[in-house]
Amino acid sequence: MTATAPREGELWSRCAGCASLLYRKRLRRNLDVCPECGEHARLAAPERLRQLVDPESFAPLPDRAAEVDPIDFVDVLSYPHRLSAARAGTGLAEAVVCGTATIGRHPCALAVMDFRFLGGSLGAAVGELITRAAERALEDGFPLVLVTASGGARMQEGALSLMQMATVSQAIAALREAGLLTVSVLTDPTYGGVAASFATNTDVVLAESGARMGFAGPRVIRQVTGRELPEGFQTATFLLRHGQVDMVVPRHALRGRLVALLAAARAGRRPGPRPAVPRQAPAATARPAVVADPPVVDAAPADAWETVRLARHPGRPTTLDYLDSAFEGFVELHGDRLGGDCPAVVGGLARLDGRHLMVIGHQKGHTTGELVARNFGMASPAGHRKALRLMRLAARLGLPVITLVDTPGADPGVAAEEQGQAAAIAENILSLSMLPTPVVAVITGEGGSGGALALAVADRVLMLQHAVYSVISPEGCAAILWPDRGAAPQAARALRLTAPDLCRLGVVDALVPEPVPAAHHDPEATARALREAVLAHLLPLLDVPPATLVRRRRQRFRRFGAARAGSRAGDR
Ligand SMILES: [Zn+2]
Repeated sequence: MTATAPREGELWSRCAGCASLLYRKRLRRNLDVCPECGEHARLAAPERLRQLVDPESFAPLPDRAAEVDPIDFVDVLSYPHRLSAARAGTGLAEAVVCGTATIGRHPCALAVMDFRFLGGSLGAAVGELITRAAERALEDGFPLVLVTASGGARMQEGALSLMQMATVSQAIAALREAGLLTVSVLTDPTYGGVAASFATNTDVVLAESGARMGFAGPRVIRQVTGRELPEGFQTATFLLRHGQVDMVVPRHALRGRLVALLAAARAGRRPGPRPAVPRQAPAATARPAVVADPPVVDAAPADAWETVRLARHPGRPTTLDYLDSAFEGFVELHGDRLGGDCPAVVGGLARLDGRHLMVIGHQKGHTTGELVARNFGMASPAGHRKALRLMRLAARLGLPVITLVDTPGADPGVAAEEQGQAAAIAENILSLSMLPTPVVAVITGEGGSGGALALAVADRVLMLQHAVYSVISPEGCAAILWPDRGAAPQAARALRLTAPDLCRLGVVDALVPEPVPAAHHDPEATARALREAVLAHLLPLLDVPPATLVRRRRQRFRRFGAARAGSRAGDR
């Protein structure tokens, strides 16, 4: 590009990833991401703020970092000496910059760490400043956004720095109790006490592309174990695969992701009783009035076995198809935060007719490859735990939950049993029966046994016309009660697993009609029908106080245990 050697550090800088020489201005325009190799250079806190918040919206908190040297720490240099050098080198008072701002016009409190300042270490002043930012969020009723970059606790303050993990965590807990969203953005590197507290105990954890996060650093682990580490150890994609973060976001998409999250949190927190029926008429198209009760289905009821085959048809729309067609603005959240991200369960924030909600569903696929990758829609314990995490998050934020059920059943594997499959399903069923937010479940394909129920303890349970919902698969039932598996069609008929049957039994509240002859012939029309049905059943629930909602939900399921005297559909 140029014949003369540029002076590094001024107009040019060298990429730490690919060693390209890059024109400084061009690099900055590209948010300090190398246009050659995609390396995300570390950002100073002021530059990070400039990239994330609305221009001119940042107001620093008035709090000043206290002068501390609690244990008179001296190594080769004294701690105060190191502090002064860090201040001079960065122009910052401490390793974090805190304040309030708007992001996409959504107000929030922020704390942005700066690795240049003593490795972003967590000392008493840093802990105090982040705590004040959290307290400010609580006072103002705003979400809290944390951008982390830290080597861990600040050794020069001894155990007092360790205490900061608890101090900040308590402030996060208070926000959680108040139903205020907390988001952390992990940037490279985030380690030690910061990783093991506020970087990961927030509601949503985003990892910037290229970020590494862990408690112990790779060097320590290598020394202790004497072993080489796996490829990509502790990188953002590694963390995603192991269920530790919700998503990996390239720098240029970070602000947009935050805007989407803040918008959802704000919608869930509208003051007073639940948001009533829409202020404005449903957007865009005027839709026909929706039938809330089972519509009269044309023609004679289909044969149960034929319905089973339709419910399993590989062309049938999947949860991700519906998220694309019936819902808008899906922001997928990943991971159970315990060690896994199950591909058979997908979930995240989405909108339905402009209304923010949480959608969670089983995911199958249309091709053999997709089906295998998604374990045929059979959730692992990590999948159930991811679903649980998202349901609880929705409740805290005041967002309704929509579940889309399409699974042959829970995962029949050794690993699933070792990881506590039974308890994971049990916990979801129990938690759904106490979840203080509206829940609408739709059986869209196969509703297979406990794996299905783990997503279907709902205020309203809907079922697509050609879906099935059953305690066991017809094949499984035939193998046990008939002489051979070939009796599956008879078993299917005996099990009463079709939507009309289950509506009659009161297990299902309404049937969602499918286009003729079935959903896979017209996925768009199916998506419209699903959307209308969900809206029709959800809207009345939004006015019901959460305690009443939970009481009625329990009554709904209690009646199946009662003796069958009297009518089934009595009180609702
Ligand atoms: Zn590069």
